[in-house]
Amino acid sequence: MQAIYLDHAATTKLKPEALSKMLPYFTEVYGNANSQHAFGREAMAAVDEARDFIASAIGAKPSEIYFTSGGTEADNWALKGMVRAAAKKGKHFIISAIEHPAMIESAKALEKEGYECTYLPVLSDGTVNLQALKDSIRPDTTFIGVMLANNEIGTIQPVAEIVNIAKEYRIPVFTDAVQAVPAMRIDVKQLGVSAMAFSSHKFGGPKGVGVLYLKTGTPIAKMMTGGHQERTQRGGTTNVTGIVGMAEALRITLQEMDANNAKIASLRDYFVARVKAEIPEVIYNGSEKNRVPSNANFTFRYIEGESILFRLDLAGIAVSSGSACSSGSLEPSHVLLAIGLREGDAHGTIRFSFGAENTKEEVDYVVDTLKQNVQMLREMSPLYHK
Ligand SMILES: *Cc1c(COP(=O)(O)O)cnc(C)c1O
Repeated sequence: MQAIYLDHAATTKLKPEALSKMLPYFTEVYGNANSQHAFGREAMAAVDEARDFIASAIGAKPSEIYFTSGGTEADNWALKGMVRAAAKKGKHFIISAIEHPAMIESAKALEKEGYECTYLPVLSDGTVNLQALKDSIRPDTTFIGVMLANNEIGTIQPVAEIVNIAKEYRIPVFTDAVQAVPAMRIDVKQLGVSAMAFSSHKFGGPKGVGVLYLKTGTPIAKMMTGGHQERTQRGGTTNVTGIVGMAEALRITLQEMDANNAKIASLRDYFVARVKAEIPEVIYNGSEKNRVPSNANFTFRYIEGESILFRLDLAGIAVSSGSACSSGSLEPSHVLLAIGLREGDAHGTIRFSFGAENTKEEVDYVVDTLKQNVQMLREMSPLYHK
């Protein structure tokens, strides 16, 4: 059997339509998009077209779209840029305790500069505690950041409600929508956010390119000082191929969304039902209801996630323990601790993230392999007495 990819939350395969759109911009249309000649104009026309499409796809204006090198840069820029731009008003900001490391580490960097961060607790299903949010808002709070969908447990946050709370205090809300874009249609006006980040490679576009949506009039410090690109906010020669590929991937994603979501959710639900029924002592993490269709996150008690991952890898199955960004470190995932898992249980956790190309046969093979290996590892585990 071919290798089975169940790690779509880490990255996805480039869509063939995106690749064909990109190819001419590597070869024939290689101009610098900011050059004042035909080569440049042709490249800029493609970037403008991509910007217009992306803006309309999320209910924004083209002038509110800023291209970045991906989700990490967009998160860094939004948090640091908006917090620093508001330093005169106050030095306190709020993010959820389960944000991506791009947010958590940026918050820690700001704390070292003298800013103060409240890490909002979440309920056991990963939903932000709205009462805690209300309680943590202060007169000097200048920024609230809560992700739209979590990358480890898939929980979808009530961002529109958070915006409603923040509105009373005129605090801008930023949302990291990297995991949400492949899963749902997003309208920034309906959501009401001041800023939003997403990343091309999580929905079938090329790696190394993403978007920061920034509502007109939202104060932000520049990301990169340099040339006049991105209305002088983010200097650097425009990534024409990446931007063109990202826009095409988004177009296909939206076109296929309903059919793909239905398929992915039914595979995921079948997987979850089989695991719950056939493997004892598991915990299904995250929300049953408010969850992206691709995500299943299980704790297999008494054993190490890394050992499961390793054995699945040997069997040709690609999954992730916690999140790729924190694996390699011995620290348990901050997301799993925040939803109340004990440290030992957090270590025994695996994320399975499904895509439209997965099949029921693959899922059956994965569950069978998982069952055998979990049993074998438990028999070797000193923590498991059966
Ligand atoms: C992947 C991811 C990022 C980082 O995006 P990159 O483009 O890989 O830098 C940020 N936030 C979330 C929720 C993610 O899943």
